[in-house]
Amino acid sequence: MATKHVYFFGAGKADGNESMKNLLGGKGANLAEMAGNKDLRLPVPPGFTITTEVCTYYYEHKKTYPKGLKEAAAKAMKGVEKLMGREFGDAENPLLVSVRSGARRSMPGMMETILNVGLTEKTIPGLIRQSNGNGRFVYDAYRRLIMMYSDVVMEKAAGIEPKDEQGIRKQLEKIMDQVKKEKGCKSDTDLTVDDLKKLCNQFKAKIKECLKKDFPDEPEAQLWGGIGAVFASWNGKRAVAYRRIEGIPHEWGTAVNVQTMVFGNMGNDSATGVAFSRNPGNGENEFYGEYLVNAQGEDVVAGIRTPAPINEVSKSEHNKNLTSLEKLMPKLYQELVNYRNRLEKHYRDMQDIEFTIEKGRLFMLQCRVGKRNGPAAVRMTVDMLKEKLIVREEAIMRVTPSQLDELLHPIVDPKAEMSKKPLAKGLPAGPGGAAGQIVFTANDAVEWKKQGKKVILVREETNPEDVEGMRAAEAILTARGGMTSHAALVARGWGKCCIVGCGGMHVDYAKKELHAEGKVLKQGDWITLNGTKGNVYEGQLQMMDVTEENSILFTFLKLCDSVKRLGIRTNADTPEDARKARQFGAEGIGLFRTEHMFYGKGSDEALFLLRKMIVSKTKEERITALDELFPYVKKDIKGTLEAMDGYPVVIRLLDPPLHEFVPRELARLEALAKDLNITMEELSGRADALHESNPMMGHRGVRLGVTYPEVSAMQIRAVFEAAAELLKEGKKPYPEIMIPVVCDVKELEDQLAIAKEVYAQVLSQYGLKKIKHLFGTMIEIPRAALVAGKLAKVAAFFSYGTNDLTQMGFGFSRDDIGGFLPDYIAKGILPEDPFQSIDQEGIGELIKIGIERGRKTNKKLEVGICGEHGGEPRSVEFCHNVGMDYVSCSPFRVPIARLAAAQAVLKQGKKKN
Ligand code: PEP
Ligand code: MG
Repeated sequence: MATKHVYFFGAGKADGNESMKNLLGGKGANLAEMAGNKDLRLPVPPGFTITTEVCTYYYEHKKTYPKGLKEAAAKAMKGVEKLMGREFGDAENPLLVSVRSGARRSMPGMMETILNVGLTEKTIPGLIRQSNGNGRFVYDAYRRLIMMYSDVVMEKAAGIEPKDEQGIRKQLEKIMDQVKKEKGCKSDTDLTVDDLKKLCNQFKAKIKECLKKDFPDEPEAQLWGGIGAVFASWNGKRAVAYRRIEGIPHEWGTAVNVQTMVFGNMGNDSATGVAFSRNPGNGENEFYGEYLVNAQGEDVVAGIRTPAPINEVSKSEHNKNLTSLEKLMPKLYQELVNYRNRLEKHYRDMQDIEFTIEKGRLFMLQCRVGKRNGPAAVRMTVDMLKEKLIVREEAIMRVTPSQLDELLHPIVDPKAEMSKKPLAKGLPAGPGGAAGQIVFTANDAVEWKKQGKKVILVREETNPEDVEGMRAAEAILTARGGMTSHAALVARGWGKCCIVGCGGMHVDYAKKELHAEGKVLKQGDWITLNGTKGNVYEGQLQMMDVTEENSILFTFLKLCDSVKRLGIRTNADTPEDARKARQFGAEGIGLFRTEHMFYGKGSDEALFLLRKMIVSKTKEERITALDELFPYVKKDIKGTLEAMDGYPVVIRLLDPPLHEFVPRELARLEALAKDLNITMEELSGRADALHESNPMMGHRGVRLGVTYPEVSAMQIRAVFEAAAELLKEGKKPYPEIMIPVVCDVKELEDQLAIAKEVYAQVLSQYGLKKIKHLFGTMIEIPRAALVAGKLAKVAAFFSYGTNDLTQMGFGFSRDDIGGFLPDYIAKGILPEDPFQSIDQEGIGELIKIGIERGRKTNKKLEVGICGEHGGEPRSVEFCHNVGMDYVSCSPFRVPIARLAAAQAVLKQGKKKN
């Protein structure tokens, strides 16, 4: 049988269904489902979908179509005509269609749409008759078609790239603005039928002048021009950029949906709107949306007029004075609510719905799973589980790690906000807070970000061309647009702070100025946005994080804990970090870097003593310095063990090369020389002696302990004494002593002997029988992974230091990779930065070998990871799959690791089934 390229839908029937997203695209599959599924059978305007396979064919065959496509489309068109009682191209009773894109995954605004296809000089009188003589409406539809068609098909799809503001659409808009000005019209709807007629002729003349071609006034030519333009838009610049950012494969292709036009602009009994079955901004279980009376769908999304709320709960500061659909057309609103309920029940997820009311009749144009931000995703999943709409496993899979990340992002400090009056107010399209310097173009946003600046992209309105700049910006602010405008949709999808429809402001692109409340802000000036409230402030306000009090987040994370197998620990170097991590759900510390107690505030004295120890020349001198240093080290370790009471704490012995701690400032050097009673020459001589040409592979980690056993002994004593004191205080300390940079078992044996001796001394000193502890090693040198079998005979635990393991496994300096990584990624040599996500093929193999060999000689071996990868979702999944016991990451990534660990279990289960 020949391949089926065209799928019909309408009037309770459909060739396709929801499961055919790959072939029909998300939109096409959903239209089929909405129209044909017996639980739904919604009033969908009939039409047909041309498959994504045709798009692939089109690109593989020099932009031509498979044989039989035109015939199949004509046949489907006949079916539509029959249902509608109208004919495509017929002068008496014409059928008009829309031509829209629809990829497997939604790419909002990234591809093209053409409406009113089939409207020509010949069919205009027929449509006027259909609309009871509403010539104004018909010519308005015609001018829209001309504008869209010339822009999308005749310019963009033809590969013409006009200069900024010189595109055909802009040219036509200028003509229209001019006519409106001449006539003294405020809005498009004030233009009369004669104005519009004249405008259409002016448009056609301008098109001929600019593009050297006539606007095709022939239905079939319009239809196939439109279909070709949609396919061409799959490879348009902004679609390609969006796919790159979102990781959507270029081979997928788009489907094309050809569907009967229904009109929301046939008068005041007509309307069009966009709604979400739940609030996509905060997840509340309330029907949420916007609509416009006497308008076409693009008007809502483009943000040209401010849309009204569909109901009372959708009201905001910005649109509270507009009449809701609930009030204006109560019966139709109830019908819409009914469809909303059916859709949610059927799809068991939040739906993004497009609807049109044509002369008092409701049509459902589109539905798809709605994009949502992180806070909304978590709230909805928890609610839907409670409502028994979904089960636990689905609830966990519904939230992506990056959505969760949004809940962990800062907000504007409410105290700082209270003392400030907003400069302007807009719609809260993307929650959270952000402060940045103003830029007015997407290019500037990208450039400034490259220079390390934080920027806020400020636009009159955004369009899909701005996508790269929006990505680069900390936040987005637009003067126009509603909650469903392009800027709002894209920002929400990314979880970015965003304010739209900020009517009180105006952007002067030429002067690069933002005007609001009589004030003028310039490019580079700082502003702060509260995307949750929609407030814009002048200057840079303080930020804070909200995560601690978010009870829904914690309910969700508990759900994850009920599924995950991996333990989640944290990398924490201070008692404060440890406490924060506990709040986030850390079940212990996977890495306490002893050296970090010598950095940051309050570390001056300890650092001075450490330096004294480092530049000591004799063992005696060193022991004196170590004795002085000891109480500081013990205090910090004790505080951390206490904060993690009952949970394991991996304490790593001093790791970095010592010369890192040698002071560089003269005053500090002088103080040190004075204290040691030596001259400055002597001191600099000692410091110079510590210099190494390759310190990362020099005298660091266990090597320090081998040359200076007293340095290890002091630290180990601090650990045991801190634990002993806590035991005496009735606490349950559980230290795990970890030796870094090990490559041979003899190094470990050397350090274990020291540990045993100190342990025995501390036990007798405190009159204790036992202090629960483990002695283990890091695996961060490739050789260590290979000799893991021997190491595991001495070590009770392994912790993978994947920062160094990646560095030494690849031979890439972790501090210098920035110099060449971009080239490696651009050339496709590396798929991504191996310091961010574990290179599973190479470094992952070393990890697997190490675990396998280690567990062979030590069945009880505990295995974890403490490199930066421990909080990266794909790496967490890998760690789960290779059988680690826990991952450890920075406190803020603990919630993400909990989710990733739970999802790893579910994904593994799925693979097995
Ligand atoms: C590692 O190497 O992965 C590690 C955790 O240690 P550090 O980053 O301190 O070298
Ligand atoms: Mg390391």
